[in-house]
Amino acid sequence: MVDLIIRSGLIEAIVDAGTPVDSQTQSIDAGGGLLVPPLVDSHSHLDKTLWGLPWRAHTGAPGVATMVANEHTNRRGLPPVATRAASLLDAYASHGVFHVRSHVDVDPEIGLDSIHGVMEAAERFAGIVDVQIVAFPQSGMLIAPPTLDLMSSAVASGVRVLGGLDPASWDRDPKAYLDSLFNLADRHQCAIDIHLHSRGELGAFEIEEVVTRTAALGMAGHVNISHGFCLSTVSDDRAARLAEALGAQRMTVTTVAAGGVPALPLKRLREAGVVVGLGQDGVRDLWSPFGNGDLLERAMMLAWQAGYRRDEDLQLALEAATVAGAHILGLDDFGVRIGGEANFVVLPVTTEAEAIVSHPPRTLLIRGGRTISP
Ligand SMILES: [Zn+2]
Repeated sequence: MVDLIIRSGLIEAIVDAGTPVDSQTQSIDAGGGLLVPPLVDSHSHLDKTLWGLPWRAHTGAPGVATMVANEHTNRRGLPPVATRAASLLDAYASHGVFHVRSHVDVDPEIGLDSIHGVMEAAERFAGIVDVQIVAFPQSGMLIAPPTLDLMSSAVASGVRVLGGLDPASWDRDPKAYLDSLFNLADRHQCAIDIHLHSRGELGAFEIEEVVTRTAALGMAGHVNISHGFCLSTVSDDRAARLAEALGAQRMTVTTVAAGGVPALPLKRLREAGVVVGLGQDGVRDLWSPFGNGDLLERAMMLAWQAGYRRDEDLQLALEAATVAGAHILGLDDFGVRIGGEANFVVLPVTTEAEAIVSHPPRTLLIRGGRTISP
């Protein structure tokens, strides 16, 4: 067991438990729990959440097009994005999720309103939960002008990551779609995080097209694939070749451990050098009634879906929910180390594997050296 000495928001030293300190030093008892880095949700949709509102029966039907149409009908009349996003950020904070990448819709109907709403909520949680916004053309990009121009405007508002969605099956012109997206990212020096739901060979083709453009524009290390359902729905050999191609471009992948889809081949991707992060996707929204802001619970679902039982496998789920997500978000000062900012979570468990399986209420949350109420 150890004690952490924190001064001016930084971890000054890690010493044996019970090492005497001067009488001026405030002491916080972490109860001998397990200390882990903050949780990082690398795939969220803050603008869509209904968190904090009364329960609402799910009205969507299978298929991206029908789900988008259902959302367009039902999002009208909801409380402001800033209010709903802030409610979810509060839930994130209470679970020790201190970093969130949120895709935020940009389309001809709402323009940049949702992005501005999420920015307003993020401002309220500054220093507690950091939000990284992805401009997300969910209603189509080339088929929904002036969405591409709106994405440029989002960059002018401070957005540094550009999103996308199923270029073959949604806009139905994958090459033109990806050319436009990558050119926009290249012009503004932005990263890309694209949703790819297509399974099997169509999804594999989309990934290859993304990899080609990543290499051509020298964007290695700046492109993330969200979902990548094809990686678990093509043959093992095909998946291995795709993983190698992703790894060669230092591309990353985020999963949300989606129900109804075979588990992402996490180990194969890791072996190919592909960092895999974890998110909750939409939390209680018009797409799904699931989620609650507790990424540790979703990490348990990831492990469950993958069939993990051994401690070393369960640890992979915690890695996805912490350091892998931090890598994808490009966080420089992350992890518990001397000289680093004092950001961590304490859990009433003895091992990381136990943390995943039991995902208990947090004992202690420290952000910037300060205690946050669990
Ligand atoms: Zn998503």
